[in-house]
Amino acid sequence: MSIDVFIGLGSNLEQPDTQIERALQAMGKIKDSNLIKVSSLYSSKPMGPQDQPDYMNAVALLSTTLAAEALLDQLQHIEHAFGRVRKDQRWGARVLDLDILLYGQHVINTERLTVPHYGMKQREFVIYPLVEIMPELQLPDGTAALELQQNLNKNGLFVVKQLHI
Ligand code: ATP
Ligand code: CA
Ligand code: CA
Repeated sequence: MSIDVFIGLGSNLEQPDTQIERALQAMGKIKDSNLIKVSSLYSSKPMGPQDQPDYMNAVALLSTTLAAEALLDQLQHIEHAFGRVRKDQRWGARVLDLDILLYGQHVINTERLTVPHYGMKQREFVIYPLVEIMPELQLPDGTAALELQQNLNKNGLFVVKQLHI
C-alpha cells in the first residue's frame, strides 16, 4: 500500500535554488516511490544563527511503499551525495536538508525519526508550502494545516518561482 509522504526541502549554500531543483530530480528516482507534487520555491529567513544566508525552501509530496526509516535512509543518502556536512552548530548553513514532515497519518517516535516533524507547526517555510499543495490537509492530531497557516507570521517568507517535477 502506498503512503503519502510530505518532505520539506531546504538549502542556503551553493546556489540554493539549483540545489532544490536537483534534489527534486534525485527524489524522483527514489526506489518504490513516485514524486507526485511540489510547491513553489520560497525564500525564508534562517532559524537560529543569523550570520548565514537566507534559505530556499519547498515541500514535496511523495507516494511510497518504503517504510519510514528506509525512506529516511534514501533522503540522507541524497543529502550526503549533495555534500551535506554534519556540523556541531544546530541549524547552521547547509547545502541540502530533507525532512520527513508527515508519513501518511502515522505517528513515529524512534531514535532516528520523529514524525510528524517536531517543528513543522511553528515553521512558516513548512506550513505555507504545505498548504499550497494540500489546502485540506490535517495532521494526525486533527489540526488543520490551513488553521496553522492563518496563525503563523510569514517572517519575510515569499515565493521566488514555480518548481516542476
Ligand atoms: P531540525 O530537525 O530542527 O529541522 P535539522 O534538519 O538541521 O534540524 P539534522 O541535522 O538534519 O537536523 O537531523 C538530525 C537528525 O534528525 C537526523 O539524523 C535524523 O535521524 C533525525 N530526525 C528525526 N526526525 C526526523 C524527520 N522527521 N525527518 C528527518 N530527520 C529526522
Ligand atoms: Ca530541518
Ligand atoms: Ca534534517
